[in-house]
Amino acid sequence: MGLYCAPVVRTLPEPGPLQGEGFMKITEIRTYHAHDGARNSVFLQVLTDDGITGVGMPYSIGPDEGVLGVIENMTPWFVGQDPSRIEWLLRRAKNTMRFPLGPAAWSALSGIDHALWDIAGKVAGMPLYRLFGGATRDRVRVYHGLSGATPEECAAEAVRLAADGYTAFKMSPYPPGWSEMPWRAVVRAAGARTAAVRTAIGEGPDIAIDVHATLREPAKAAEIIRAVAPSRMMFVEEPVRPDAVESTARLRRESRTPIATGENLAGIHRFAELIDAGGADIIQPDVLYCGGFLEMRKIAALAEARYVTVAPHNPLGLLSTALSVHLAASIPNFAILEFHSDHLKPKAQFVDRAWAPVDGHFELPEAPGIGMELNLDAIAANPARHWNRGFPTHDDGSPAFI
Ligand SMILES: [Mg+2]
Repeated sequence: MGLYCAPVVRTLPEPGPLQGEGFMKITEIRTYHAHDGARNSVFLQVLTDDGITGVGMPYSIGPDEGVLGVIENMTPWFVGQDPSRIEWLLRRAKNTMRFPLGPAAWSALSGIDHALWDIAGKVAGMPLYRLFGGATRDRVRVYHGLSGATPEECAAEAVRLAADGYTAFKMSPYPPGWSEMPWRAVVRAAGARTAAVRTAIGEGPDIAIDVHATLREPAKAAEIIRAVAPSRMMFVEEPVRPDAVESTARLRRESRTPIATGENLAGIHRFAELIDAGGADIIQPDVLYCGGFLEMRKIAALAEARYVTVAPHNPLGLLSTALSVHLAASIPNFAILEFHSDHLKPKAQFVDRAWAPVDGHFELPEAPGIGMELNLDAIAANPARHWNRGFPTHDDGSPAFI
């Protein structure tokens, strides 16, 4: 007769509701579309039944109505859900769309991600970089764009901005109308433009150029890199098309100038391909497009594992800058942030804070969440208009990349 063992009865607690009573719920997603005199901006708000509202900024990809349509279509996937389940909500949205996401869907989900994190930060009473593990630096260095048409104008603009405290600059290597010029003249102009800036500002500040993915051929990009190299480049950005990972990797192997790219890439898988191929010294994801904070922090971690640094793409304004500052403040492999004096531009009216750098750096914000709200009156007073980026051509009439 064996020993009788009473069965052990474990009383497991009832699983708590993942949604339902006791949890904050998303009640609505509102979108906004405004024109700043040059182009449109897309904004959104995620509202909750607790009265906490999060703000976000999807990338205005060009056909902005596509982004607005995607957000409208996916809003029912979020309404009624717990806004703190960011990974689950975004993963579920990506999976139900089934096909690899395109620019409109990546932009839409990025904006929703911002707003969900903004809500989380407001609930926690902390700025976002603290939720992300805390500040990895005391301030965030920026480079300022140069927009001069001639070498002299570029140099004068750099001198003026250096006097304002900026310590790094990025410029186009191209003169206006370059796509219709003989290629040899374009290469000479690239060397002259960067040399004028270097001579004007001396050896202290950093200079970068942005080829802006205008070239198909790595050999042409290599010629531009050789032309500007005497002016000692911080990096050369998008020397070839962003999907030409092997071309970018070849340039990086053959050049001593750091290669930066990635503003047109979204999601961890595309960045994994780029980094695995040895295609970049510096990656440039945009938090408005690459998938939001959650995806961009994973992308930054992929880069960290390969000693690749992150210089976030940030051309679209102050809310984009605020988002990027939180990201930059929290990752260990941040390099430098793009900036274009957005606090001095008409689009600054679309938000309630005019963040401005001091001595070429942003201070870390202390307000909970993102720390910036939309100015809905200014947005309503400046309705969206049709816009596009233009249609440059080569001298034979064929379309050029912009
Ligand atoms: Mg760029």
